[in-house]
Amino acid sequence: MARIDLHLHTRYSDGSLTPAEVVTLAHQAGVTAMAITDHDIVDGIPHAREAATKLGIEIVPGVELSSRFDGRELHVLGYFFDWQDPTLQAHMVRQRLSRQVRNPQIIERLNALGLELSEDEVKAKAGSDSIGRPHIAQVLVDKGYVHDTREAFERYLGEGAAAYVPRTLSDTREVITWVRDAGGVPVLAHPTWTRCEGEPLYRLCACLKEAGLLGLEVFYSTHNRKQISRYLELAKRLDLLVTGGSDFHGAANPAIQVGRGKGNLKVPAALLEPLRLAARP
Ligand SMILES: [Zn+2]
Ligand SMILES: [Zn+2]
Repeated sequence: MARIDLHLHTRYSDGSLTPAEVVTLAHQAGVTAMAITDHDIVDGIPHAREAATKLGIEIVPGVELSSRFDGRELHVLGYFFDWQDPTLQAHMVRQRLSRQVRNPQIIERLNALGLELSEDEVKAKAGSDSIGRPHIAQVLVDKGYVHDTREAFERYLGEGAAAYVPRTLSDTREVITWVRDAGGVPVLAHPTWTRCEGEPLYRLCACLKEAGLLGLEVFYSTHNRKQISRYLELAKRLDLLVTGGSDFHGAANPAIQVGRGKGNLKVPAALLEPLRLAARP
């Protein structure tokens, strides 16, 4: 059975590889369709398309947008939208700017804690203007302040950690309408991030559905079998489409592979057509 991967990052956000390199890995993993879903940026799409045509892989237009809902940071994946839509592009520029405003504040806090690093060093780690905490984490690793990026987040960069600075984010319901307005299908990414299960998660998803949400990312590298069946049930109950992907980042998280996640991930290719049909032509 053919597999797909609808959640992949490249150097255009916080991944370590180019779109062409990710396409090659997807091909090797037997992936027939894939989406590059960089954070708040779609610039990798044309490069992925160029590389994929030769290999016969379909590139679904994709993006991962950051948002806030009820004090929580939630990610909304968008698929099959008009990625050149000027309004959506403008929203994404604003999203990236909100991150840029935060970066110097984080660096300042790290400096005050006695960790020496500069904005230029962080910029040098990024492949585009989508610069964020993963790049800061990488600099902290390179300089030997922490062993790995996980420790960087635990000690300094994660929510509530020593150098954490909250980011101004748009409401999840608003972000959902951006994707719909560009003709696309908005999907709630990695529902584990909501930090709720059962009825609270049902209510959250029902509320987002009312705002225009059309899908739920059921298949994901870190979801276990039980979670997958619970999320499938939830999607069915709310009549939401089912999607899935690895959330591959490359070197930042080497345990996760394109198309295969931690080894057991298999996103069925049959999920693609309902998603395509839900998009506005
Ligand atoms: Zn995410
Ligand atoms: Zn992601």
